[in-house]
Amino acid sequence: MPIEIERVDFLVIGGGVAGLRAAIELAPHGDVLVATKDVPTESTTRHAQGGIAVALSDEDEVGIHYEDTIKAGAGLSDEAAVRVLVEEGPERIQELIDWGAEFDRDGADASKLSFTLEAAHSRKRVLHAHGDSTGRELVRVLLKKVQGLPSVRRYPSAVVVDLIMHEGRCVGAYVIQHGVLRAVLASATVLATGGAGQVYAVTTNPIGATADGIAVAARAGAVTHHMEFVQFHPTSLQHPWAPHFLLSEAMRGEGALLINVCGERFMERYHPKGELAPRDIVSRAISAELHRTEAQHVFLDLTHMDPAFVQKRFPNIYSTCLGFDFDISREPVPVSPAMHYIMGGVRTDKDGATNLDGLLAAGECTNTGIHGANRLASNSLLEGLVYGARAGATAAGQAMHSGLNKVEPLAPVRTIPAHDEIRGALRRLMWERVGIIRCEKSLTEAREELSRWEFILEAHYQTRRELELKNMIQVGILITDAALARRESVGAHFRTDSEA
Ligand SMILES: Cc1cc2nc3c(=O)[nH]c(=O)nc-3n(C[C@H](O)[C@H](O)[C@H](O)COP(=O)(O)OP(=O)(O)OC[C@H]3O[C@@H](n4cnc5c(N)ncnc54)[C@H](O)[C@@H]3O)c2cc1C
Repeated sequence: MPIEIERVDFLVIGGGVAGLRAAIELAPHGDVLVATKDVPTESTTRHAQGGIAVALSDEDEVGIHYEDTIKAGAGLSDEAAVRVLVEEGPERIQELIDWGAEFDRDGADASKLSFTLEAAHSRKRVLHAHGDSTGRELVRVLLKKVQGLPSVRRYPSAVVVDLIMHEGRCVGAYVIQHGVLRAVLASATVLATGGAGQVYAVTTNPIGATADGIAVAARAGAVTHHMEFVQFHPTSLQHPWAPHFLLSEAMRGEGALLINVCGERFMERYHPKGELAPRDIVSRAISAELHRTEAQHVFLDLTHMDPAFVQKRFPNIYSTCLGFDFDISREPVPVSPAMHYIMGGVRTDKDGATNLDGLLAAGECTNTGIHGANRLASNSLLEGLVYGARAGATAAGQAMHSGLNKVEPLAPVRTIPAHDEIRGALRRLMWERVGIIRCEKSLTEAREELSRWEFILEAHYQTRRELELKNMIQVGILITDAALARRESVGAHFRTDSEA
């Protein structure tokens, strides 16, 4: 049966901060379709808490934000890409404010934006909204802006299966919506599908973060880079019923302390900056304490702070934890590390271009080179805004109709027996063998296990769960191979058998 074809000028895959910002940039240049796996409001962006880093406070400078980002990246950041981020950041934020973004403010007349401190930032530079709901505010403002643009159409519950390539150029994507497969043909395609947290058993990421964009781009021939660099957040809620809910870095920025199950502060033994040491160091310190004390968690303690301040500054975290019977303003809460962010992804240049004509990319699915071996906290929302806008502008310039009239259906289509069991096993394998602490032996064992599932990459599937599993296996292999290849410890990639 011939496959149904839909034509648009621009296809944006993903409706988080990067995809929405790209769509806004593309709107004056033609009709734009924004495909999202779930409802338009759901994305990792919506869950972002702490804030968005930008050099806008009186005490800050673009040059200092640049230096902090480069330092966090442990020598592997692309300096030109970082410069673009920090220099264009203030303009992108001012634009959001003009569109109605309500960032928290200080002062009697609330005239000044309020900035907080986060780990590895040498200045207070993290803007936040409604205390700890920065992502929700960003999505609200960007969606409102998009809704006012008649050329932008949203395409919810639409799962992108693979990119369509024609004569070496990306000309759109195969999409399944409500069980129906369609080919969306576009003059240019922007990939903005977010991160890979679900590849790991323990993660702060929502269930949609299954690395789809990285996998479909790699299958089409896009170059991926720095896949070994996975950031583990030190403090996710440790509770049998809580899905590793994030307790933001900003809590330590405001003075929260880490204590082990024996009631001792321990961070000063691991780093002179204590609780404000870089994320990877705090995560490894907690892992060491868990091992030493034979416990499942340490505690994040805010009880020395004014309860009214804690409740007002972190209203979302406070009420979510209360739902699990923890009053963060009055008792220490159990926490442990979780996979949080992937620094690697589809390699792009400063304009969001990949090595494939017709394919641009932005946001967490990319590797612009900004984060190097470790992301500076709260730089990712800013990256989504700055590089989403840049990818949109480049896509407008790269638009070219393929003239394609017919698209082959995908074959062979199969089902994966016991795919949910394989999903669980894959996620545990990645957490246990390719996690916070790695070595040749753990990585080789993981690679051998992953090989057993490589047959899954050979076919196409019709259900979202099976499609996601295929993508997660593919990206699991990319991460493991890159981790095996990098023999020294650097940034978030820590090997006990490091050669350096
Ligand atoms: C709990 C939490 C808190 C965070 N807090 C902060 C913070 O305070 N500051 C900060 O800078 N960063 C924070 N981050 C990281 C940051 O939120 C993300 O890096 C960023 O939001 C990613 O944006 P994105 O646009 O690239 O992708 P996302 O926001 O993840 O959007 C991805 C989009 O792609 C769509 N999609 C995915 N696959 C497909 C497919 N196959 N077909 C169709 N559509 C698809 C999804 O439906 C979604 O619309 C946090 C992350 C988490 C998990």
